[in-house]
Amino acid sequence: MAIPQSFIQELLARADVVDIVGRYVQLKKGGANYMGLCPFHGEKSPSFSVSPTKQFFHCFGCGKNGNAIGFLMEHAGMNFVEAVKDLAQTYGMPVPEDDTSPQERERASQARARQATLSDVLEKAASAYRKHLKNAPTAIEYLKGRGLSGDIARQYGLGYAPEGWRSLASTFPDYQDPLLVDSGLVIHHAEDGSEDKRYDRFRDRIMFPIRNIKGECIGFGGRVLGEGTPKYLNSPETAVFSKGRELYGLFEARQALREANYVLVTEGYMDVVALAQWGFANAVATLGTACTTEHVQKLFRFSDAVVFGFDGDAAGRRAARKALDVALPFATDVRSVKFLFLPAEHDPDSYIRQFGPEAFARCVSEAMPLSRFLIDAAREGCDLGSAEGRAHLASNAQPLWMSLPDGALKRQLLAEFAELIQLGLHELQSLWQPVTPAPAKWQRRQPTGGQAQHDGSPPTGFARRFSTDKPPRGLGRQLPASRADHAVRLLLSDMRQWQDLNGEEHHMLCELPAPHGPLFTWLDSQHQEHGSLPWGALREGLREHPSEALALKVMDTGFEANPTPNEDEPDPRALSPQALARESAAELKALLTRLLIERLKAQETQAIASAQTDPTALARYRALQARRRALENPPEV
Ligand SMILES: [Zn+2]
Repeated sequence: MAIPQSFIQELLARADVVDIVGRYVQLKKGGANYMGLCPFHGEKSPSFSVSPTKQFFHCFGCGKNGNAIGFLMEHAGMNFVEAVKDLAQTYGMPVPEDDTSPQERERASQARARQATLSDVLEKAASAYRKHLKNAPTAIEYLKGRGLSGDIARQYGLGYAPEGWRSLASTFPDYQDPLLVDSGLVIHHAEDGSEDKRYDRFRDRIMFPIRNIKGECIGFGGRVLGEGTPKYLNSPETAVFSKGRELYGLFEARQALREANYVLVTEGYMDVVALAQWGFANAVATLGTACTTEHVQKLFRFSDAVVFGFDGDAAGRRAARKALDVALPFATDVRSVKFLFLPAEHDPDSYIRQFGPEAFARCVSEAMPLSRFLIDAAREGCDLGSAEGRAHLASNAQPLWMSLPDGALKRQLLAEFAELIQLGLHELQSLWQPVTPAPAKWQRRQPTGGQAQHDGSPPTGFARRFSTDKPPRGLGRQLPASRADHAVRLLLSDMRQWQDLNGEEHHMLCELPAPHGPLFTWLDSQHQEHGSLPWGALREGLREHPSEALALKVMDTGFEANPTPNEDEPDPRALSPQALARESAAELKALLTRLLIERLKAQETQAIASAQTDPTALARYRALQARRRALENPPEV
């Protein structure tokens, strides 16, 4: 489903990032901005700044930045569409959907209503299970026996599903309600000839509610008390629950993930809860399924370091191997992926109960780096003493190595494999990565629009006009890039200034060579369409735009140096927003005058040069000169 870009920008213009961030982070006014403790990295003094004028947040510590949508994605783990919808709901703006018929919209709204109802049903069941736990001494004994306190049980919302086939009937008087089946709570067998059979899915089990990132109950895991089978039983896939996407404990772990600098991925809910009991609240679990790309993507939204802690048995090793395959494409040089292998007879829960938290912490710190595990996995079953064995290793290793993103890690591993395989570095590289000619420099620097021409689609307006990468000739060359950068920064930071410029200034900015001119042309069209927009909204509209890189570069360095506000006293140097706006307007005016003067000088030079052949050039030269002098010596006021 596509959401129109213009709606996203309107939404970002209406939303208040200070408000959105403020729901999760305690913010304090410091000068024109708000400061707080960064939710994305652990810190003691605030370096996380939120700008109400730019509608943008920025952390001076870890560099994370973005608008309200970005914050919801990064912090609350939503995807783009979820974040837009969440924000739209907050501000009461109905989300228009492209290319959808009224029937489709109706279906979508019914599906949404249905999901909300399913969540309600599951929530109600969770609360009933919690109540049952209070009156179930054997279940309480069991949890105590596993070393769990009442506090942890409450924190994770643990409950108990009583024995009996229709215990839920006491919570849901209409036991025939199809929602009970749709939510996975009740199993329905329709048999020929006999009457319908309906019964509770979970019976005589410890219940672990599975919550999504918003904290809504979307399903359950149930563990038998004794020796029955299956030991663990999960909710089936439903409209609100998908095993391949959800991680048990992620909602509960959010706070801890900010303090610990890694997320620990285990195999079971019991591991998660037991680890939390022992002080490792940063653990999550996959739900009886192998780790998926969506899992890993989600994990990296919350932490740059992932430790996979699987059971010590053969199944655990297989699970680790799957996790390796999935994690490889995400293993950039700034991220860390490690594998924790416990002794064969242990899972994290049993290990920490037997050896204690210090021993477990040691295991984590000694966890195997991805590079080691990758090499081990590739050489498994290969006899490195023979050429055949080494060739086998090479063929095992190639797909793993190819999955890695380019970077220092990938290059080092190439060298390690070359040594193991006993091939030269370049030989191995040419074996694994058949030569594709590197794009020539001019191709690499071509703006995105240029590529459109290769796939046969018509170039966009910008691409047509700026698809050449030759240095623009003529007037533009003489303008120092830094001044134009500076103008970009001032105008993107506070677009309201655009309407205060005169036609000559607008014209001059839009005619600057790429990437500056196209950026201002775009800004002008945005102004006509939406009026002034905060940087947070402009940033969204710039995605894929040929001048996007310029805007990001300029705005990244443009964030004011960290004001490091004093805890209690306001910074005396801090100016009021009004004073800042006045200062910035004066700065822009002076800057534009400099740019105009430079442009006029260049035009004068051109006019003089063509005076011999063009009889009108001299008059043009005089007019240009007069205009320049007027700018250089403004009339006294
Ligand atoms: Zn930070």
